[in-house]
Amino acid sequence: MFYVGVDVGGMSIKLGIVNENGDIIFRDKLVTSKNDSQEVHAIQIGEKVNELILNSKIDKCLIKGVGIGAPGGVKPQEGIAAFIPNIPWVGLELSKIVSGVTGLPVKIGNDADVATLGEVLFGSAKGCDNAVLFTIGTGVGGGFVIDKKLYQGKGMVAEVGHVTLRQNGIKCGCGKYGCIEQYASATALIRITKEKMLENKNSNMWAFVDGDIEKVNGITSFACAKQGDETANLVVDEFVANLSESLMGFMNIFRPDVVIIGGGISKEGDYLVDKVKAYCKKFNYGYPSALVPEIVCAKLGNDAGIIGAASLFIQ
Ligand SMILES: [Zn+2]
Repeated sequence: MFYVGVDVGGMSIKLGIVNENGDIIFRDKLVTSKNDSQEVHAIQIGEKVNELILNSKIDKCLIKGVGIGAPGGVKPQEGIAAFIPNIPWVGLELSKIVSGVTGLPVKIGNDADVATLGEVLFGSAKGCDNAVLFTIGTGVGGGFVIDKKLYQGKGMVAEVGHVTLRQNGIKCGCGKYGCIEQYASATALIRITKEKMLENKNSNMWAFVDGDIEKVNGITSFACAKQGDETANLVVDEFVANLSESLMGFMNIFRPDVVIIGGGISKEGDYLVDKVKAYCKKFNYGYPSALVPEIVCAKLGNDAGIIGAASLFIQ
């Protein structure tokens, strides 16, 4: 059997046909226009799926279904893209429309949720039954796989970035204060880097950004910390503590086999993972007898969206 995965992004929509091994064997892309209605977007997705299957020369009878991952709140049981702010879609009957155009069953999920499922079935957590994923970018998203099934609840689940880490902390875009997203995202890492640079004008991080603080990005502190810069190490330590404290909350709830770190920061690989592991081991509940979950970096990268969405029919 084959599965279609659709990865809805803010700028474009990526589509792929995925086989039972989780390989994308055929892919295409769709760019939607802000001038079109959301219903037209859904019809265009359906038409692009038909075109993709036709071009792949795979018999449509062998396609089990179309999985769609979207960056926002979905109602999986009703197949509704409830709140996808970046496009924007509000209350869009996505499954119904795409199914109508393609004649195939359609399932939808949040993008980070489906990426978690993809990592468990085919990526960094292959073979694991229970996994928690944190995807770290501009914000912090997440997903939970329990007994090899994606936990979707009634939708809007695994919004790990908006769990409070610090009471009365920094104001978040969601309206609350002190959310994890304000301390453990790439945006937060950049803020901490700038703060520490302003406190120490002798840090090598200044030379790294040619003296221009606006050039600071998510790599600055990690690159300079590896070269032994003291201030950069303070930045990394603070970020690792924020991330680890956030992860431990979910380790204590789920005690998963594995915690997956995704997003751009996962490129730091073992350098980051070893520090997070050391922090979590030290403060793990029930230490030393309790299980400390394995901590790994996500593996599927940019394909996680397509493979994860298709996985809604493979799980
Ligand atoms: Zn928030």
